[in-house]
Amino acid sequence: MPPPRACSIIREFDNRAGWNTGFRSCAAWLSWRVGLDIGAARERVRVAHALERLPRLAQALARGELSYAKVRALTRVATPETEERLLAVGRAGTADHVERIVRGWRRMDRKAEAAEDARRHRNRSLETYHGDDGMLVIRGRLAPEVGALLVHALTAAREALYQRARAQAGDAAPADVSAETPTMAQQQADALGLLAETALHHGIEPGTPGERYQVVVHVDAPVLVESDAPGESALEHGGRVSAETSRRLACDASRVVMRHGRDGRVVEVAARTRTIPPALRRALDHRDRGCRFPGCGSRFGQGHHIRHWARGGPTKLSLALLCRRHHRIVHEEGYQVDRQPDGELQFRRPDGRPLPQVPSSPEVPDDPVQVLRRRHGADGLVLNGRTGMSGWLGEHLNVADAIDVLHPMADGGGS
Ligand SMILES: [Zn+2]
Ligand SMILES: [Zn+2]
Repeated sequence: MPPPRACSIIREFDNRAGWNTGFRSCAAWLSWRVGLDIGAARERVRVAHALERLPRLAQALARGELSYAKVRALTRVATPETEERLLAVGRAGTADHVERIVRGWRRMDRKAEAAEDARRHRNRSLETYHGDDGMLVIRGRLAPEVGALLVHALTAAREALYQRARAQAGDAAPADVSAETPTMAQQQADALGLLAETALHHGIEPGTPGERYQVVVHVDAPVLVESDAPGESALEHGGRVSAETSRRLACDASRVVMRHGRDGRVVEVAARTRTIPPALRRALDHRDRGCRFPGCGSRFGQGHHIRHWARGGPTKLSLALLCRRHHRIVHEEGYQVDRQPDGELQFRRPDGRPLPQVPSSPEVPDDPVQVLRRRHGADGLVLNGRTGMSGWLGEHLNVADAIDVLHPMADGGGS
């Protein structure tokens, strides 16, 4: 019996945390190492773990009898109890049939309801990006209650705008009345703008990261200047942190440095400044577009000083964007980043080995097809044009009937 290679390898790699060398997850590592899209990589990891409890599906995948697409769909619902039945579905139907039956199955599954809630919560998102024409495009999914809140707020904002417009129309020349009435969609866009304005006006979020954190570091000057100087620093309103942590916090912040004399008295209070001036920060965001750590791609970065600001003012070349996690490991876990003479960033693992942006590809044998054939032969695999074919002969698929027959909790029974 051939082992389901790729999946068991991924599973073992994940179980041993082989990816835990600066990467966020097994999926992030796969994305970096093999070039999978991050969503596809997450699915591989999920399927790999699911197949551990589903030996028949794993076997069918390994023997080429079920496509990965079918197995991926079936592992969303299969349990050791229902595996056999679902394997039959996979053999009989096309990938589309399987997908539809799995969807129907999930609707049936009452336990899935609870999971559904959790999934909705996990899947909340709001993305903003600039379209080709320079307009900001917004796409998101909000939990129902947050969505209700937003709709509510938009309605209120629309009404406020409407009233404002009416008041202005009262004063203005009547010639303007012929101006086009904005569509609902346009009104919504205006309303969102008003919401943002209002929120900022009332100060819930002052803006750039440099404004967000104001670090008051009470420190002996040498700790910031010497990157390997030991010692602790005290943060205003919050315990003591290591010298390295204080350097990380100070990388991208507003700072007020107070120097202390030997007796502990403050001898000098510097003016509040940004460690990365706004113009430089904009240039940095534009150049780096998110975290530069290999394989990360997180869009939100903190400015990291490759050469610390305490040892000279920042320049664009002395900075790199890193996400929160990778900024932490660079300061506190021994990962290193340097800028090469050609301007490229070079990351290194704590043991000094380089961590390339794109790993080198494995060597391909001269005749890869023959190598693959020999391996299949050794595994006793016979693959031909009919191996992965479904048994479907063109009959109409009635998903509801199929679920009635198949699902253990359906009235029709079937277990
Ligand atoms: Zn830093
Ligand atoms: Zn990162």
